[in-house]
Amino acid sequence: MIQRERIADNVYSFQSDLYAQVTAGAVIGPNWGVVIDTLALPEETLAIRDFIEQELGVPVRYVINTHYHADHAWGNYFFPGATVLAHKLCRQWLEERGIPSIDSVRKHNLAFRNVKIILPQITFTDGLVGLRVGKKTLSLMPMPGHCADNVAILVEEDRVLFAGDACMPLPYIVDGDIDDLTASLKKVGRMGLENIVQGHGDIILRGEIEGYIKDNLSYLSAIRKAVRKASRRKYPLDILDEVTVEDCGKSRVLIGGLAEELHRRNLRALYHQMFGEFPQASPEEEEDYEDYEDDEDDEEE
Ligand SMILES: [Zn+2]
Repeated sequence: MIQRERIADNVYSFQSDLYAQVTAGAVIGPNWGVVIDTLALPEETLAIRDFIEQELGVPVRYVINTHYHADHAWGNYFFPGATVLAHKLCRQWLEERGIPSIDSVRKHNLAFRNVKIILPQITFTDGLVGLRVGKKTLSLMPMPGHCADNVAILVEEDRVLFAGDACMPLPYIVDGDIDDLTASLKKVGRMGLENIVQGHGDIILRGEIEGYIKDNLSYLSAIRKAVRKASRRKYPLDILDEVTVEDCGKSRVLIGGLAEELHRRNLRALYHQMFGEFPQASPEEEEDYEDYEDDEDDEEE
């Protein structure tokens, strides 16, 4: 159900087999551990907790949420003894959006019937927060773009970065900002890292980082170009819908096959970010889009 990997001494990552290859992490000290993000489903978060508390035999003292999305922050509930740390906006959005949203999920998904949103107790906005865990130093820093509250966690001694969704196999900006994400990716590229734990997908190794950052930046340029081009037409959505994820240099199999769908959402959202309105479809095409509007709420990634 979840894949576990030991990245360095006392540093672990976990990846979901069930939902969008979402990841979480843990850094373990002699007396207690830190969890970085929770996974999408309660049973997966419980598997992380069991591994740390039963197999490694230490309690979880802190949970860090990289951002407020359900697949990263709704499992805080399973660590009642822990203090939750996050960006100040993460706390605000969990409260304003997470709480109403879990109320509706609970009604049709039994797995969530007891789950409550736990708001971060310690928050920060700019700069760095340091957290010492045994011999490891964690530095928490803002890394916006996927969403404004995204933070990354650097394990200084190992040069391992838990990037949250600033790093995904396909950059995703629907709830964020393309300029911020571009700046964040450039920053990650300059950090001199051994590994990047992406918020979704596999771990990026040192030798792959340069190419990975370049690919993600060129995807962002490609969608920007596509949106600009479409904006010159009377019915921009007709043009945008012809731009596939492959046209923008990425494979459709990424993120468990969700790439094409996330790419479509990126194009529409970027159009909105650049021009302040959603792209129009020609009247003949319009009816094809009605279904699409229905699943627009489902913003987990
Ligand atoms: Zn995510």
